[in-house]
Amino acid sequence: MAAREPRLIRKIAELREALTLIRRERKRVGFVPTMGALHEGHLSLVRACKTECDCTVVSIFVNPTQFGPQEDFERYPRTLDRDLAGLRSCGVELVFAPEAREMYPPGFDTWVEVKGVSEPLEGVCRPGHFRGVATVVLKLFNIVQPDVAYFGQKDYQQALVIEKMIRDLDLPIILRVLPTVRESDGLAMSSRNSYLDPESRKQATVLWRSLCRAAECLRNGERRADVILREMRQVIDAIPNARTDYVALVNPETLQPVDAITGKTLAAVAVRLGKTRLIDNLLLEP
Ligand code: AMP
Repeated sequence: MAAREPRLIRKIAELREALTLIRRERKRVGFVPTMGALHEGHLSLVRACKTECDCTVVSIFVNPTQFGPQEDFERYPRTLDRDLAGLRSCGVELVFAPEAREMYPPGFDTWVEVKGVSEPLEGVCRPGHFRGVATVVLKLFNIVQPDVAYFGQKDYQQALVIEKMIRDLDLPIILRVLPTVRESDGLAMSSRNSYLDPESRKQATVLWRSLCRAAECLRNGERRADVILREMRQVIDAIPNARTDYVALVNPETLQPVDAITGKTLAAVAVRLGKTRLIDNLLLEP
């Protein structure tokens, strides 16, 4: 049987009304927030949500407040028709795609700041980014009031920020963080991969290769962080076009750097290839 078209909703009030009816039937509501330009990474979250919940809400919103002034908000890919086709094939019930002025009407000036885990790594390179993320996600949580929310490990720090926000603000939401979906050569799927020209696309495997190098060092018995970081940097530095924003080995809960790998450790990288900035991470276990 062909899947039904998802219902596309543009207004907060309309979504609230649709969800009131659904909740009255005691349905478990799952929520997948996205910025669109959907790929298999997004769809893996959607499929998990479909399996685990009775009603799946996907938001598509390129959130202006999480982009810095020099970042790619304007050119971020917007592919609503294709996104809707993908969501239809997954059997999604509701798609919420508001205009920016619906989410941020004139005079909007309330912000959510999650301290601590938002500060290192992406927090250093993209000041204000997680304030925008936390603010829009809390707004979306308040609008959708999901039982379960789905995020990808691809954006590990983001998931940690949301986890802390849920805990600190007593939000009655279960957080599910699902594994990174990769291309066959290891590149983490990302909407930003569409920026890469063929040459940069080949070079973009450098993030995954540097993470694998860390895992390999560990397998060979190396525990010293400085030695492993040097090896990871060497992989990236071999690409003339690549600029490293950071290469880090951090505690997976605090995101503070470790001196040696003695327990679970997150390897995280951010690399710019020309104008395209990519991130990736891998959880290491000795
Ligand atoms: P975005 O549209 O980039 O804001 O991503 C929306 C959600 O999809 C976030 O929770 C991301 O972590 C997740 N996501 C993005 N790429 C991937 C991927 N390759 N694998 C798994 N989840 C992903």
